Amino acid sequence: MGSDPFFMGDYYQAEFLTRRQIEEIQLSALRGAIDRAKHSEYYAKALAHISPGDIHSLQDIRKLPFTTKDDLRSHMPYGFLAVPVKDVVRMHYSSGTTGVATAIYHTRADLQWWAECVARGLRGVGVTEEDVFQNMMGYGLFTGGLGLHYGAELVGCMTIPAGAGNTQRQVQLMREFNTTVIHILPSYAMRVAHYCEEHGIDPARDLKVRVALLGAEPHTERMRRRIEEMLACKVYNCYGLSEMCGPGVALECPEQDGLHVREDHYLAEIIDPETLEPVEPGQEGELVLTTLNRQANPLLRYRTRDVTTLNPEPCPCGREHSRISRIVGRTDDMFIVRGCNIYPIQVERVLLGVEEVGSNYLITLETEDDLDQMTVQVELRADVFFDDVRTLERIRQQIAEELRHETLVSPRVELVQPNSLPVSEGKAVRVVDKREKPE
Ligand code: ADP
Ligand code: ZN
Repeated sequence: MGSDPFFMGDYYQAEFLTRRQIEEIQLSALRGAIDRAKHSEYYAKALAHISPGDIHSLQDIRKLPFTTKDDLRSHMPYGFLAVPVKDVVRMHYSSGTTGVATAIYHTRADLQWWAECVARGLRGVGVTEEDVFQNMMGYGLFTGGLGLHYGAELVGCMTIPAGAGNTQRQVQLMREFNTTVIHILPSYAMRVAHYCEEHGIDPARDLKVRVALLGAEPHTERMRRRIEEMLACKVYNCYGLSEMCGPGVALECPEQDGLHVREDHYLAEIIDPETLEPVEPGQEGELVLTTLNRQANPLLRYRTRDVTTLNPEPCPCGREHSRISRIVGRTDDMFIVRGCNIYPIQVERVLLGVEEVGSNYLITLETEDDLDQMTVQVELRADVFFDDVRTLERIRQQIAEELRHETLVSPRVELVQPNSLPVSEGKAVRVVDKREKPE
């Protein structure tokens, strides 16, 4: 790298910026981002009293208002667009998991740096042009497919745009083309792994997958280890959201200890979602992100609703880009049962600690006698005998006891046959809330 931190002959060099260089880049880019954002109808008003000159340090970002998903929704379609429509080359929609979907626009330059962020993450875990990359995420409006696609092509991988679903064909493609790297939803990875098991395919012997990138859904460390074992590969966590382009915002490095935020493009803060004040360093809170270089659709202090922590310490891998910890869930994923706050991921943590548990589970919340009742349905593995009533009862009691310990409520636990719970093509639905809502 030259002495000028802004010069990068190869985009990968940005991975090794020092903390000081990162902060210099962020400060100057933040001023530029404010300037560009003001070209949009929304920020022209929201930032009427702020100019780039008001930003003297990175802490001054607190002078800017937050932006929320509701702001985006109420200014659809073009209220946040900061360039003429003729300069836009692509739009994406968020998956709409939590309500009305929102559109995000990209210029050619935006697509380029987005692909570079993804490519940096891929190269960071050892992916090269020698690899065959099978992308098992949905293509189309959802950003998971195209986001990784262009990054993998930039690395030079032979890229297979398989899309989501059709497990038989996925496995066939993996075998036929010797796929070495996959990008996949954690819930779907479990299904693929069980499919292999049920069809006598031993991934260690019959497949060549060595790296799996898991994204778009919260998942536990246990889920990661299980998938690593079942698919005989290394699993890395890959985070992003459509409002911030898509996957590529933060990815794990070989240390598997936190996801490096590409901080030369995204400025990350963690706030308390109640007080909106920054949390103490290392404390859990809501991730707030600012796009630093986006042209078409700059977003400042966007409240992701994702709950995590931020670690600015240098990583043993050599990177000084801060790391977020694995996402616990969204602030709105959390549900309250009889006064106890629960994230679905806590239930998953317990279930995956039980050897006989298979690939899917469902939490149902109901009202019974004016009280909340939580039922957890759990698929068991194909090799568990459903005739062995005593074993089943032991597993059921173990799960119920551990869930009570983890969540402080006593759930009803039902063990069900493999592949009997509903599956979705996209993100897994973990909670069905049928409770009576107060008038
Ligand atoms: P939607 O908000 O409609 O689901 P997106 O497709 O943009 O739309 O999804 C982004 C969201 O997916 C993130 O805000 C986060 O909640 C979740 N997500 C993405 N990647 C991960 C990951 N690696 N771990 C946990 N959650 C993730
Ligand atoms: Zn690292």
